[in-house]
Amino acid sequence: MTDFSRTKRAFHLPYGVTYLDGNSLGPMPRAAQQRVAAMMADEWSDMLITGWNKAGWYEQPQRVGNRIARLIGAGPGEVVMGDTLSIKVFQALSAALALRPERRVILSDSGNFPSDLYVAQGLATAMGARLRVVAPKSVADAIGDDLAVLMLTEVDYRTGRRHDMAALTARAHRAGALTIWDLAHSAGAVDVDLTASEADFAVGCTYKYLNGGPGAPAFIWVNPRHADVARPILQGWMGHEAPFAFTPDYAPAPGIERMRVGTPPVIAMAALEAALDVWDEVSMDHLRAKSVDLTGAFIAEVEASCPDLLLNSPRDPERRGSQVGFRHRQGHAVMQALIAEGVIGDFRAPDVMRFGFAPLYNDRDDVSRAAATLARILRDEGWKKAQFMRKAAVT
Ligand SMILES: *Cc1c(COP(=O)(O)O)cnc(C)c1O
Repeated sequence: MTDFSRTKRAFHLPYGVTYLDGNSLGPMPRAAQQRVAAMMADEWSDMLITGWNKAGWYEQPQRVGNRIARLIGAGPGEVVMGDTLSIKVFQALSAALALRPERRVILSDSGNFPSDLYVAQGLATAMGARLRVVAPKSVADAIGDDLAVLMLTEVDYRTGRRHDMAALTARAHRAGALTIWDLAHSAGAVDVDLTASEADFAVGCTYKYLNGGPGAPAFIWVNPRHADVARPILQGWMGHEAPFAFTPDYAPAPGIERMRVGTPPVIAMAALEAALDVWDEVSMDHLRAKSVDLTGAFIAEVEASCPDLLLNSPRDPERRGSQVGFRHRQGHAVMQALIAEGVIGDFRAPDVMRFGFAPLYNDRDDVSRAAATLARILRDEGWKKAQFMRKAAVT
């Protein structure tokens, strides 16, 4: 069995805080602090430029990528780190569009994260394509023979609704299209199997459920069947086949390495490597089972004690990621009151309170405390005080 009491101890969580916002920013792994300090003291300070070879900074994006690969059902040498998720979305989408030159339709859904849609809008203009956005439940039926790329986020950042990656990928492939899956709310949260899904591209960030720290670098996966033919479009010297030959013309490196762009964020990646150590003894099946238990228990406890709240997430655990949303017309004020009591979730307009459950450090005590605090605030109308204080602060 995965020892979740051990993984919990690996994190610094402020005293008295129940942290249910790891779906936005994971907490700090205790080892990250020492790791970054050691990187500065032993590597940057003394090795200077030689650190690129001596300390393995140059290979770090692949080394770290291999550790992420295990968590998302990818193979070694198939994942590389770098840049932000928005940039990795750009690379995946531009590469996919270039692989389907005779088709110009990108399909996504209205539950996708704005940055992904913004990138798609920009690329549609630049590459002469058209972005179609439909409701999440209409995606399957909107896949037609004109489709170039189906670009979806597997777990909806607002509702926690989880798409069926394998089924939608199969459907897109039957129509002759490629798929891109954004795993921002999946990696480290649910059991992802990219290889079995036969998806074409996947991207994700590492500062949410993977706890890599604010601004930690993103990852990109390209299915090995495309890795040597996909053109990154956003071409940088670190993705060149011979970066240190400094030739004026771009020639892509073999495989996933071509998706590197520029100099990697070595200090940030030191923190991420420490965060990934925590995952070494975690089984993704155990992780998923604990996630389903926590989110299911939270739904049951809140529905039993808070009749005013409306569930904004799928009830079926198969269709749900590792977060739960509840709606309340004063959701923002209620969340402020919760945070003031040490239960940290977050709010998404217009009325959704989000609670992310990270099996690595959340347990049933967090579920009960959050549900009980929420029930008390609603019963005593404690949110009115928070609302009053907010208004007082604004005026
Ligand atoms: C969090 C998130 C992002 C954020 O992108 P950054 O470039 O890392 O700021 C993008 N897409 C999705 C689906 C997300 O959940």
